[in-house]
Amino acid sequence: MYRIPFNRPTLIGGEMDAVQQAVAAGKFSGDGAFTQKCHHLLEATLSVRRALLTTSCTHALEMAALLLDLQPGDEVIVPSFTFVSTVNAFVLRGAKPVFVDIRPDTLNIDERLIEAAITPRTRAIVVVHYAGVACEMIAIMDIAARRGIPVVEDNAHGLFGRYRGRQLGTIGALTSQSFHETKNFQCGEGGALLINDARYIERAEIIREKGTNRSRFFRGQVDKYTWVDVGSSYLPSDLLAAFLLTQLEAREEIQAKRRALWERYDAELSGWAAAQGVRPPVVPADCDQAYHMYYLLLPSLTARTALIDHLKARGILAVFHYLPLHLSDMGRAFGGQPGDCPVTEDLSDRLLRLPFYTNMTAEEQSEVIAAVQAFS
Ligand SMILES: *Cc1c(COP(=O)(O)O)cnc(C)c1O
Repeated sequence: MYRIPFNRPTLIGGEMDAVQQAVAAGKFSGDGAFTQKCHHLLEATLSVRRALLTTSCTHALEMAALLLDLQPGDEVIVPSFTFVSTVNAFVLRGAKPVFVDIRPDTLNIDERLIEAAITPRTRAIVVVHYAGVACEMIAIMDIAARRGIPVVEDNAHGLFGRYRGRQLGTIGALTSQSFHETKNFQCGEGGALLINDARYIERAEIIREKGTNRSRFFRGQVDKYTWVDVGSSYLPSDLLAAFLLTQLEAREEIQAKRRALWERYDAELSGWAAAQGVRPPVVPADCDQAYHMYYLLLPSLTARTALIDHLKARGILAVFHYLPLHLSDMGRAFGGQPGDCPVTEDLSDRLLRLPFYTNMTAEEQSEVIAAVQAFS
């Protein structure tokens, strides 16, 4: 029904050859040669201590919650404007989410509000680099260091983005990545845990391998493997890793394509946006963004609904994004009230994401731009 979808999964070329090689290699389960190559690529390109592929970003976040030893009654500081998994992974361990509002410019957690949300029970500060634009990490890491609280980066949008030259995902203690088909780099369903604080490496390998020291066994460090801790099964098939490796190796091509799409939207819609009171994305000068999405902030909910309908009538799917988590059924059960996060409540009603995917053609983008410009 939509000629131009919001997202199209990306094939950059070579994925099927890689999967065929993985099949021929005869190892279908996790941690085969392709998984190791993905780990090495992420570790080398990001300069991160350890990278571990996971079955999803959600599972990488669950691993982070296990590694931080979260207990019932512990508190975790989270933005309200995020995907449910950013919070659910910690709630699964019995932690209580403490929702913090976002900055009106980048839509990232407002670092000026974090300190007031800290209590003696706070065990983690979880940040999301929304749209692949960095949070104010200097201020956040300063608060975290002074208060002795680890930072988790949910970097699902931000792989290969930078903040003051530093790669996103390499700043906090632990980071989650997503390789879902809606993200810049994909294998359908997949993710990674990046570990910057070396104290977590050994236990992360154990948690990911069902609570066993199987990774040490395969490295020849122990002569049999056994059950040593809690854990689950968080490693993806090597077939998926083969698919993913192709895309990670093509990262410059993928990011260049996405950058060109983003910059064209921004350039060609700026006049229309100014005339309509529409705010385009803000990317601070110290952020090299990851080109994950292109969004617009409409002047009102009514205007956003009208633009969605206008585009829909032209066969184009544009979509809103996160609903405030503190006002969801679960968020309210944790005490969330209207007015707790006023910026989140306002902006989530007015944000619209335009179709944006790596292999979007120039013609498709021309159509979207013309359709938006025809709206007033
Ligand atoms: C997509 C996304 C997730 C979840 O990713 P999965 O790999 O689907 O589990 C988590 N957090 C954010 C911010 C996301 O955008």
